[in-house]
Amino acid sequence: MIVIKFGGTSVGDAAAIDRAAAIVRARIPRQPIVVVSALGGATNALIAIGRQAAEGQLILAIRGVETLRDRHLQVSEQLLAAGETLDDVQAELSASFDELAHLAEALSTLGHATPRSRDAMAAMGEMLSSVLVVAAFRERGVDAEHVDATSVMITNDQFERAEPKPERIAEACQRILRPLVAQGRVPVVGGYVGATDHGIVTTLGRGGSDYSASLFGAALGAEAIEIWTDVDGMLTADPRVVPGARLIDRIRFDEASELASFGAKVLHPNTISPAVRLGIPVWIFNSRNPEGTGTQITFDAPRRPVSALAGKSGVTVLKVRSPRMLLQHGFLRGLFEVFDRHRTSVDVVATSEISVSVTIDDATHLDSLVVDLSQLGDISVERNRGIVAIVGAGLTESGMAMSRALAALGDLRIHMLSLSASAINLTMIIDGDQVSAAMVKLHDEFFPTVS
Ligand code: ADP
Ligand code: ASP
Ligand code: MG
Repeated sequence: MIVIKFGGTSVGDAAAIDRAAAIVRARIPRQPIVVVSALGGATNALIAIGRQAAEGQLILAIRGVETLRDRHLQVSEQLLAAGETLDDVQAELSASFDELAHLAEALSTLGHATPRSRDAMAAMGEMLSSVLVVAAFRERGVDAEHVDATSVMITNDQFERAEPKPERIAEACQRILRPLVAQGRVPVVGGYVGATDHGIVTTLGRGGSDYSASLFGAALGAEAIEIWTDVDGMLTADPRVVPGARLIDRIRFDEASELASFGAKVLHPNTISPAVRLGIPVWIFNSRNPEGTGTQITFDAPRRPVSALAGKSGVTVLKVRSPRMLLQHGFLRGLFEVFDRHRTSVDVVATSEISVSVTIDDATHLDSLVVDLSQLGDISVERNRGIVAIVGAGLTESGMAMSRALAALGDLRIHMLSLSASAINLTMIIDGDQVSAAMVKLHDEFFPTVS
């Protein structure tokens, strides 16, 4: 059994869904389970509709609903022959869009949206795409069966970033997905979407379809998890930032995990952990180039000093200075409890004798964090910082990689530096607007173009 996940661009239009069907058909002997994202851009559109409605811009929101409706109906017409199936699919899509319009009206009457109602809207993208994909697959000779994600992806009620419940998911997957596969059918499930024990819709956070795929893979003990996207695999850097980025044929789980955490959007940061627990290899392939060799993420990829780079901007640095720090045991515990209380995860940490610096991605609770942290010492906040990370399992085996990294950055200002305990990741905090320039410099240093 394998899990095949198609991202937004890989199901973005009729031609893409047609290619996805061919990819799945070629894998029928391996007993696939298919996970699909929303049509590319649909989740952004749904979130915008929710925001506009809640802000009272109902006309704009309804216009958004109609644009999305037209797009889905048009894709269905291009994909399916005229007849009963097309009529049924269009009726189902239209009913969902009517419901979406009602939701928008309700939010506009209320004048605000809760995380729960935002999730109900955002989740519709995957619900719609899976209906289209199932019908298209069937017409192309794949015996697909739609499985509602809310019946298998059981989560807690932390809306917009719900925590999956692996045991409940495993039980539901064994009960619902396995028998379908045993009958030779191909289950198609929307990614990103889940539900609480009480059936209330949740989502796993943006980009969460990759995570859905690995959770289903782990629940079923799959042989492989394939992530089909719009690039040839995991590359040595984000190709939008470094056009010369190169394909990595094999990379280790821990390296891929670090890269995902530090900005390699090709993989949701949580994707690796369910797979690594069972040692299930994760592959990344390009759905526009199905003949490509892709990237294999596994335990035994070669150890390189530097495998790849990642970077992100929009990072906030918080510095806590306290002359008392050294004398106090429990200081760090108190500090991290504050972040825990405000449900804010810390990415990078550096300490000196009298200060601790941490970075956070999500500054939603910044004001209350600062109030609570002020109890511990003097706080300074630096917004608009960025992170560049150099990742390689053999990073510290010779001192050279780190000194070369620092030399390559020249006079670029580094605000914070941290080497992860596993010594596979050197992270540098720089100005947010310098991230792209730093990535290009580091890439030229570690992956020079051979002419
Ligand atoms: P999908 O919709 O298929 O999930 P995403 O947009 O989430 O696709 O992820 C794919 C994108 O990730 C690529 O188009 C690329 O721009 C970006 N990316 C960032 N870092 C990397 C990297 N190291 N290797 C490959 N792609 C990367
Ligand atoms: N459709 C969701 C998003 O855009 C989930 C995903 O594509 O992985 O965030
Ligand atoms: Mg993605």
